[in-house]
Amino acid sequence: MRVDGKLDLDDHDPGETFGWDKKAATTELDVEVARLSELQMLLFAEKQRSVLVVLQAMDAGGKDGVLREVLTGLNPAGVSVTSFGVPSEAERAHDYLWRVHQHTPADGQIAVFNRSHYEDVLVVRVKNLAASSVWRKRYTQIRNWEQMLVDEGTTIVKLYLNISNEEQRERLQDRVDSPDERWKFRLGDLEDRQRWPQFQEAYHDALVRTSKRRAPWYVVPGDRKWVRNLVVARIVRRTLEELDPQYPEPEEGIAGLVIG
Ligand code: AMP
Ligand code: MG
Repeated sequence: MRVDGKLDLDDHDPGETFGWDKKAATTELDVEVARLSELQMLLFAEKQRSVLVVLQAMDAGGKDGVLREVLTGLNPAGVSVTSFGVPSEAERAHDYLWRVHQHTPADGQIAVFNRSHYEDVLVVRVKNLAASSVWRKRYTQIRNWEQMLVDEGTTIVKLYLNISNEEQRERLQDRVDSPDERWKFRLGDLEDRQRWPQFQEAYHDALVRTSKRRAPWYVVPGDRKWVRNLVVARIVRRTLEELDPQYPEPEEGIAGLVIG
C-alpha cells in the first residue's frame, strides 16, 4: 500500500477488502475516528508540529467522501481543508507552488489538500498544459519543497484513492442520474475519463518519483467506500501516533492551584 521505490498499479486491486466485511469495518472506523480525534487534540495542544494530508484521485474517486466520513470527527479549530481546482488568473501568473504554500499547516494544525500541487504533474502533463521540459522538472522540485516542509516540522502523508475504471463509470453515471449529485458533474470530466490510461501513467510516475520516507504515498483501495474510509483513517491515525504529540508542560505554579 505504501509506495517505496517501485510500483505497479495493476498489482493494487481497487476492490480489495483485506478480509473486512462492511459491518465490522464501519464499527472499526468509529474507533479509529475517536482515536484520531484524541491525537489531534494533543497535536493542537502541543503546537510544535503539524501534519499535511494530500488527497488525490480521479474524478469521483472519493476525496469528498473521505473529508465527510473520516475527517468529520476532528476539531475544526485544528483542521483546514483546501480544494485546488483549475488555477485562477492570479494563480497561473505565479509559480505552481505559490497557491499551495499559503495553505500548508501551522504548528498544531492538520491541513488537508483536496487535490494539490500534484495536479501540476498530473492533469497538466496529461492535457499538455505545460511543456514537458517544464513539468518534468517538477518531481524534483516537489520532492525538495516537501523535504523543506518536513525539515521545518510538517509530517506529510499522501493518499491516492485508487478506483477502477468501471467504478468511476458507475459513479459518474449516478452523478448524472441523481439531481442532488448532478452539480458535481462537468462535461470536462468525460475528457479526463477518456484519458484514463494517460492519467494512470502520470499517477504512476508521480507516486514513484515523490514517495519518500518522510512524505510517503499510499495507494488506498477506493472501490468500496467503507474499505477506503477505514484505510485512510488508519493511515492518518498511525501517522499521528508516530508523532506521539504531548500536552505541553503547564506554566509553573498552575499545578495544584485553587481557583478562588
Ligand atoms: P473537482 O476536484 O472535481 O472540483 O475538479 C477540479 C478540477 O480542477 C479538476 O478537473 C482538476 O483536474 C482541475 N485542476 C486542479 N488543479 C489544476 C491545475 N494546476 N491545472 C489545471 N487544472 C487543474
Ligand atoms: Mg470533479
